[in-house]
Parts: sequence; structure tokens; C-alpha cells
Amino acid sequence: MFDKSTWIKLPRSVLQGHGVLDDLSAAVDELYLSGEPFLVTSPSPNRIAGDRVREQFDGISSVSLDRASFESVERVVDAAREADAGYLIALGGGKPIDVAKMASDRLDCGFISVPTAASHDGIVSGRSSIPEGDTRHSVAADPPLAVVADTELLAEAPWELTTAGCADIISNYTAVKDWELAHRLKNVEYSEYAGALSQMTAEMLVGSADSIKPGLEESAWIVTKALVSSGVAMSIAGSSRPASGAEHLFSHQLDRIAPGSALHGHQVGVGSIMTEYFHSGARGEWTDIRDALSTMGAPTTADELGIDDETIIEALTTAHEIRDRYTILGNGVSEEAAIEAATITGVI
Ligand SMILES: [Zn+2]
Repeated sequence: MFDKSTWIKLPRSVLQGHGVLDDLSAAVDELYLSGEPFLVTSPSPNRIAGDRVREQFDGISSVSLDRASFESVERVVDAAREADAGYLIALGGGKPIDVAKMASDRLDCGFISVPTAASHDGIVSGRSSIPEGDTRHSVAADPPLAVVADTELLAEAPWELTTAGCADIISNYTAVKDWELAHRLKNVEYSEYAGALSQMTAEMLVGSADSIKPGLEESAWIVTKALVSSGVAMSIAGSSRPASGAEHLFSHQLDRIAPGSALHGHQVGVGSIMTEYFHSGARGEWTDIRDALSTMGAPTTADELGIDDETIIEALTTAHEIRDRYTILGNGVSEEAAIEAATITGVI
């Protein structure tokens, strides 16, 4: 009997380009949503672009969040119910988008992603990550109904946010290798389409590394396109596997041991250099990853992350414990092997 089935959830519209923020209401109209919009933002995106959203939606209610937390999710859920909202508009970097994604899941309504920084692939995906205590909770929700990514705005974001987004994409290289490995060794379900799309996205970004420069709107364009493709790969896979392998476990572990030290994308980038070394050895492709990161100005060493060597080694040797996701780290890397990998790759 044929019993396969799949349910792929994708954004219905992706609007990307110079000044497209002013087309937000037109993009929303195309979705034929019912009910009132509700704006979820945080202080600086609100200052930069909040009024441009308000101009398009008469009398829109909003909340401005200082941080991403479960408390913030509750606040949005309550305020959106109070306002009788039919859908949410998330304006900002990672925080408002993560919170709105989770809140819309709770409210059983859709949300529109309006990123003001291209700092990670969560701006398009259905994955939400919220810190709680010394850990982060990753939750599977639906992807945005629409993404409106104004490259003019994104190009004005602090440069390190853009390089973090680039590094998050580059890490797809090792994520896909880990996924293939898990498929071969543990029979984890693998999607050729999603794997190929994710890998190609990373390759195209690396190929464009020379055009990724501060002050160039073209950089924001390239990164946003890559973040969209990466999000689509995750949607096709129905999991974060195409974009999250051992390098992400390493980063999650850093978040626990040394919270707030570096940006997510920068941590996974450095993680990716070392896990690529584990995959392909001293003469392997880790140098390509490192060179692409350094061309863009993303960190490639512990020092540049602002994290000490011991913490890097601790995170690398304990990363496999973080969740039930088989990767190249297997049942764990010994301290000696971790030190060797980090030393050869120049991370420490
Ligand atoms: Zn990531």
C-alpha cells in the first residue's frame, strides 16, 4: 500500500527589493486575510520603520518588545486578542519575528515577516527560537504568509548582522553533510530536493563572497535571497535539518555556557569550520568555509567571537548532548580531538 504523505508549508508571497516596505499593505491585500492587523516590533526597528507601517494600516495596534521571551509571547497573544487581531505583522530583526511566529501559532492566525536585519534564516522559516533561562527553546511553527524584505532598510542594518546572516547560510554546507550522514547511518528521512537547494544556496553565497561588502545594497539583496532559499529548503524538508547540523548544536551549547557572547550566525560559522574539518580532514573544504567567512568580515576564530578557547572546547565536546540529532559529532568528540580540530583550523 502506498502510504507516503507530506505537507509543505511555504510563504505565499516574497517581496524583496529597494523600498518594498511601502508595498506592504498591497502585499497583505493579496493574501485576502480577514480581521485587523497587529504590529509586533521592538524599539529600534519601530523608530526606523514603524511609522511607514502605520501609514499603511490605519489605527493599527502594536506592541514593542525589549526582548524575546515566553513572557513577550504571552504579551503579544493577550494584546492581539484584545485588539481582535486577524493576523500579525512582525517588524524587526530576530526578536519580533521569533515572538510573532510563536504568538501566531498560539493565536492560530498567520503572520507577515518584515525583517529589518538579514541576520539569520528564521526571518523566512517556520522555526522559532526563544531563550529561556540558560537554554533556548526551538519550536516548530508555520512559516510567514508573506515576507517583505526591503533591501534599502536591510543595507542600513549594522554590518555584523548581515555577516551573521551570511555565516548562517554558509553553515548549510555542513548541515547538509550531517543530514546525509544521519540518513546513511540512522535512516533519518532525507529530502534530495531540500538537501540540494540548501547546499546550492550556500555555494552561491560563497561564490558571491566578493560582492558582500558593507554599504552595498547588493549585499543585502544576495543575503536575503539566500535566506529565502534556505527557508524554503526547511519548508520542503519539514525540518530544520537542511540548515542546522553539528555547527548549530555547537552554537546552542555556546548559548548555554557563554550566553550573549556572539551572534548566532557568527557562532555557527565558526562551528562550521570545525565540523567541516571533522567531515573532510586537514586537507578538506574547511578552508573554503573559513576563507568565505573572512572575506565577508565574519569571525573565524574564538578571539573574534570574543569567546575564550576553553569555552570553545567545552562547547565542541558537549554539543552532541544538546538534542537528539545525529551529526558528525556522533556520541561526542574527545577533548584531545576537539583541541586538535580547533588548533588546525586556527579557531583557537
Ligand atoms: Zn541558524
